[in-house]
Amino acid sequence: MIEERIKERPKSKGRLPTEGFSEWLSGIRLAQKTGVGASVPCGECRGCCTSAYFIHVGPEEKETLARIPRKLAFAAPGLPKGHVLMGYDEKGHCPMFIDNKCSIYAHRPKTCRQYDCRIFPATGLAVGGEKPVIAGQSGRWEFSFPAAQDSEELRAVRAAAAFLNAYADLFPAGFVPNNPTQQAMVAIKVYPVFLEAIAAPEKSEAGKADAAARRRRTAAAMLAAYKQFERDRDG
Ligand code: SF4
Ligand code: SF4
Repeated sequence: MIEERIKERPKSKGRLPTEGFSEWLSGIRLAQKTGVGASVPCGECRGCCTSAYFIHVGPEEKETLARIPRKLAFAAPGLPKGHVLMGYDEKGHCPMFIDNKCSIYAHRPKTCRQYDCRIFPATGLAVGGEKPVIAGQSGRWEFSFPAAQDSEELRAVRAAAAFLNAYADLFPAGFVPNNPTQQAMVAIKVYPVFLEAIAAPEKSEAGKADAAARRRRTAAAMLAAYKQFERDRDG
């Protein structure tokens, strides 16, 4: 029923058609593994630079760090020495956002290169916080679903995001981030687990026990998938 309503949703001038879901998904996973930038057709949107984000810069980003005035960066809480964050001004603008553009665009932080607001419609997660520009922009994207695989992968990504939200207590402390952007990325990294997951009704006490055990196995498989993704990235 919901799918029918989505299909019937009238097209408006505000809609932004984007690539097939599976093509997008493999692209963003590859971008995360290789460190290359995401390819987002942002057009005139400047949401990322004007939405009160703390921008992380790692110690290996020497060209970027060299271009950020020292007084604009501070030690990133909870991360090893050398990791810094850039804050934002009273309007929520990044301090490197000057004359309506990024003043260090060619050397912008990896965080900025890899950001893709399509993660929100992909996972079904809300942008969160006071970020109306990003919420508005991310709500406009419209993936296409040219093959059955596109729809199956969308369902798997959304199931992964929903599972992380519902059963955070099954994971080690801190594994499920509070930050919706980071949470969406975890879902995108572990979604293959849900391509294989089989939903079964929980009708009896034994069934409930089975369901609980299944959830623990699912969480373990998600953790393993996450670790494998990170190994592939580092390798
Ligand atoms: S909010 Fe989305 S469209 Fe806008 S600048 Fe950021 S990534 Fe691009
Ligand atoms: S560093 Fe550049 S791309 Fe990144 S948020 Fe600031 S202005 Fe935008």
